[in-house]
Amino acid sequence: MMSKAWLSLGANLGDPSAQLAEAVRRIDAHKDITVTAQSSVLATKPWGKTDQPDFANMAIAVETSLQPIELLDVILGIERDMGRVRDEVWGPRLIDIDIIAYDRIEMISPRLTLPHPYAHERSFVLDPLRQIDEDVANWVMETAAKSL
Ligand code: ATP
Ligand code: CA
Ligand code: CA
Repeated sequence: MMSKAWLSLGANLGDPSAQLAEAVRRIDAHKDITVTAQSSVLATKPWGKTDQPDFANMAIAVETSLQPIELLDVILGIERDMGRVRDEVWGPRLIDIDIIAYDRIEMISPRLTLPHPYAHERSFVLDPLRQIDEDVANWVMETAAKSL
């Protein structure tokens, strides 16, 4: 059974747009994931913690046979392999990959909340997402607000 998921990617250290491209390449190279759409890369101001370099952000759509937690494990593994050091939440990073939505699943668990709990208040997530799927962007805006 194939599911559809939408991922948000961000980077603000090193060569941000090259890292986004590398992350997309690695995601698509996974045998159980196919990238089906990509937004453009947007330059954005940092959110939450503003004294750090600007970000490059984009969104992609994927088709996958993985369950949500399995998909999370894959993207966290790619972040790790690409050299991300996780020190402070919302701090500078080489690569961040979040699951914005997975089908139309709503869930709250210790490791994974869907849709992503802050997506609806982040234009750097919603703007690229709208480029690739207007319907899911609207669903995220309506649904994410409820989970806070
Ligand atoms: P934010 O989640 O506010 O964008 P962040 O991306 O900087 O902050 P991270 O340090 O990358 O936070 O991730 C912390 C944890 O968030 C991950 O280890 C993961 O278990 C959890 N998490 C919960 N929901 C999601 C989701 N929808 N996508 C990705 N990670 C999630
Ligand atoms: Ca994030
Ligand atoms: Ca993250």
